[in-house]
Amino acid sequence: MASAKSYPTLEERVQEVLESYEIKELPDGIFTMKAPSAQEAYTVNTRTGQCTCPAGQKGKPCKHMAAAKELLKQKEEKHEMEPREAMRILGWVVKQDPERLLDLSSKQEAKVFKALATILLRCYEHVTKQELEKLLE
Ligand SMILES: [Zn+2]
Repeated sequence: MASAKSYPTLEERVQEVLESYEIKELPDGIFTMKAPSAQEAYTVNTRTGQCTCPAGQKGKPCKHMAAAKELLKQKEEKHEMEPREAMRILGWVVKQDPERLLDLSSKQEAKVFKALATILLRCYEHVTKQELEKLLE
């Protein structure tokens, strides 16, 4: 019985790009992607929706664009979820009876410290070096 040849889905091709291509992120939503066997990289511009690969030059959707969008999505999710989770945990801590907080298991304590560290780090990102030095005086 001959098995039918199945073509990889877009998802599988995107996965292949993410795993094996040499990818560089440039400013303004631009990526360069070079296949392991290729001499030159394709340039993907997620803002204009253009890719320099043969399919992209004909205005067709390509795996490079899909991979670039996936990378942007992953970055956004990572950026947004951590502070939200941190705020949730801190919100819980604020509502607790101080006596009860003494009974926290170490796993919960670790979560609380992680939440505090995340919030502090976010604040720190918006504080200039001079402001910080003043605070530490
Ligand atoms: Zn492309």
